[in-house]
Amino acid sequence: MEGIKLVIFDLDGVIYRGNFPLPKAKETIESLRQRGKFIAFLTNNSTMTRFQYKRKLAHMGIKASAEEIFTSAWGTALYLKDRNLKKALVVGEKGLKKELGWAGIEVTSSPSEDVDCVVVGLDRKFNYKKLCLAFEAIKQGALFIATNKDYTFPMENKIVPGGGAIVASLQSALGREPLLIGKPSPFLLRLIMEHYHIEEKHAVIVGDRLDTDIEMGKKAGMKTILVLTGVTNEKDLANTPSQPDAVVRNLEEILEIEWLK
Ligand SMILES: [Mg+2]
Repeated sequence: MEGIKLVIFDLDGVIYRGNFPLPKAKETIESLRQRGKFIAFLTNNSTMTRFQYKRKLAHMGIKASAEEIFTSAWGTALYLKDRNLKKALVVGEKGLKKELGWAGIEVTSSPSEDVDCVVVGLDRKFNYKKLCLAFEAIKQGALFIATNKDYTFPMENKIVPGGGAIVASLQSALGREPLLIGKPSPFLLRLIMEHYHIEEKHAVIVGDRLDTDIEMGKKAGMKTILVLTGVTNEKDLANTPSQPDAVVRNLEEILEIEWLK
């Protein structure tokens, strides 16, 4: 039987918290590469570009190419480009705006009739005015797109509200759901599987969120590993009906998993 060929890592709460790498992240990835595994990084966090994530990982001693990094911002840019959506009102940070711009999408912050879609991600300068403008654009007919719906994400010493909390405010005003690009939607996962030419049964996702990382993996028929270094604790885990294939307290423990050897 062929085993796992591709290990997909979430970033926030798995590889690092804020600017601090989690223990043994670098060593674990190096060991897996030495075993001949392909590595991919898949984050719902839309605040930075793939190249910024590459640099952030490099600062932590983790070597990764931009082609190994898949983000909800990049995925959203690809989605808009594919569907010929040319102008986006963006509630989000620089990284998201840059990825959209590189894909040839015009980015605006004011609602007008030619706005094709409203793209929402984490925006740490979000305010009521931005909520009103996004609401207005969607009311005028723009498509409502969420880069991700993560309600929280982990920083160095605390858990903070995520892009999903901003999406939820707009969603509640509109009374309807957005189209979701990030996990647990299979959209980014399909791009990864196509890139590596690997079937789901030969891949595993390592994440810290049950409702995104683990949920997506399970839906796709992949193996799933939950790491308890992010937003999920043992109590949350006990209360969930859909259990991951493995649970580890720290990243290094995944090297001991028999089916990953
Ligand atoms: Mg995470």
